[in-house]
Amino acid sequence: MPIRARTYKTEAIVMRRTDVGEADRILTLLTPEHGKLRAIAKGIRKPVSRKAGHLELLTRVDLLLAHGRDLDHITQAQSIDAFPVVREDLTRLAYASYAIELLDRFTVEQQEAGEMYALLHWMLGTLNASAEPSRTARFFELHLLAQAGFQPELRRCTACRRDIVAEDQFFSLLEGGVVCPRCAEGRAGLVAIGVEPLKFLRYFQSQPWPKVEALRLTPALLGEMEYVLQRYLVALLERQLKSVEFLKLVRRQTP
Ligand SMILES: [Zn+2]
Repeated sequence: MPIRARTYKTEAIVMRRTDVGEADRILTLLTPEHGKLRAIAKGIRKPVSRKAGHLELLTRVDLLLAHGRDLDHITQAQSIDAFPVVREDLTRLAYASYAIELLDRFTVEQQEAGEMYALLHWMLGTLNASAEPSRTARFFELHLLAQAGFQPELRRCTACRRDIVAEDQFFSLLEGGVVCPRCAEGRAGLVAIGVEPLKFLRYFQSQPWPKVEALRLTPALLGEMEYVLQRYLVALLERQLKSVEFLKLVRRQTP
């Protein structure tokens, strides 16, 4: 039996943290190779802690961890990127928190998460680069859904499998895809979706970010895309996400 190394290095993004005991903190981390994991930072809340500044929420960090009996211990931490623009803007911070909560709900601990890691890293970096937050969030949601195995079917009717033509359609929350008007009759769990939002959801799903970022989109259109995606996400998660409520609260307060 190979002897397990006592320590290991990894890059991580700090997703959550909980204070424990006198001066310790348990962190939930997303890492590329080890997936989502929880680790303890001993003594981090002491004023002399050298790790504290490197392990703030939403920080991308290089870590040295030691295997522990229950939780692994963080022995060294060096921040790589703290995403300062996101931190200083309440709206961007709310979007970042939302992305982390959503990702948290769609991942399990200790499962390789290289693509999820890349997606979260992209999300934080893009929000930090002052891209339009709602457009960034819709792109994130569609790619998160795809990676989690829930990619919405937007090209063919999920009932009759016929190609979708350019007319107003329905989205089935149960099937996770479009239903044509002919198949929609009598079906439950449908949300109406117009030609335009459907067209742009497909575009977001299939095109790289620079092309998506260059599109001209009205807030109303982004709102319609958001509505369908939120209904689908909420149906998938079976309960309203706390951060969705938080985002609505922030929106009411920011003009
Ligand atoms: Zn159909």
